[in-house]
Amino acid sequence: MKIDVNFGICEANGLCAGAAPEVFDLDDDDNLHLLRDTVTPEIEDGVQAAIRQCPRHAISVED
Ligand code: SF4
Repeated sequence: MKIDVNFGICEANGLCAGAAPEVFDLDDDDNLHLLRDTVTPEIEDGVQAAIRQCPRHAISVED
C-alpha cells in the first residue's frame, strides 16, 4: 500500500510526524516530507494513527 499526502490541504501542524516520525517529517520551514511512501507491517500502526489524527484528512493509503 502506498501512502499519499494531499499537500494542498495539509496545514503543516506536524501531528502525523508525532504519530509516525519514521514516515512523516516536518522541516524547519514547516514543509512536510514523506520519508517513505510504502506501508510495511512495522509502520502500519503509526500510519493509521497519523491518518486518524490528521485534522485535515490529508493522509490516505491506497493499494
Ligand atoms: S497531520 Fe495532516 S495536516 Fe498535519 S502535517 Fe500531517 S498531513 Fe499535514
